Amino acid sequence: MANIFEFNTHELPRRAGEMKEYQLDITLDEDMGVPLISVPAGDLIEVDARLESVTEGILLSADIYAIAKGECIRCLDPVEIVIDRKIQDLYRYEPSSDTRKEKKSQKKPRKNEEEDVDLESDDELWMDGNIMNLETPIRDAIVLDLPVNPLCSKECQGLCPDCGEKWASLGEGHVHEAIDARWAGLSGLDFKNSDE
Ligand SMILES: [Zn+2]
Ligand SMILES: [Zn+2]
Repeated sequence: MANIFEFNTHELPRRAGEMKEYQLDITLDEDMGVPLISVPAGDLIEVDARLESVTEGILLSADIYAIAKGECIRCLDPVEIVIDRKIQDLYRYEPSSDTRKEKKSQKKPRKNEEEDVDLESDDELWMDGNIMNLETPIRDAIVLDLPVNPLCSKECQGLCPDCGEKWASLGEGHVHEAIDARWAGLSGLDFKNSDE
């Protein structure tokens, strides 16, 4: 099964300085986000990508655009969050097994340390032949923009627990007479009992 996040870079010459730009529309096959708000399956993620051949691999610079959908945790209104984030990641060429060992054992200081600051993450990204898997950077970009507890607005007052109406649309003095509710229930029971 084709992975929707895999991108074939065969058009890009492997010479440092070569560059190509692409506009990718990725249709999600499953939700991407956090439990309470996510870009739903079937929706598009737009990726404006620039690929650049560099000595160690291919540098991906991209604008990620998508709309995450969820519900306000207080009032349950739909919440949409526009995700528009720039990313930059270096995909290293797959090294031979020998160089991989070398890299693990000795931490060489890099020449262009300043350029690499943003590229250094716990999980290094690797090319798989010509294939660049965009899933990790896209997922990171989306998840970073999403709140764990989505709200329709910071001031959302939520719902009245008794009637389920929004506090915002209820009058300021809105109360439920707890005693009324109890009487209504009791009187129903009482009548039935007394009939028998
Ligand atoms: Zn709300
Ligand atoms: Zn109420």
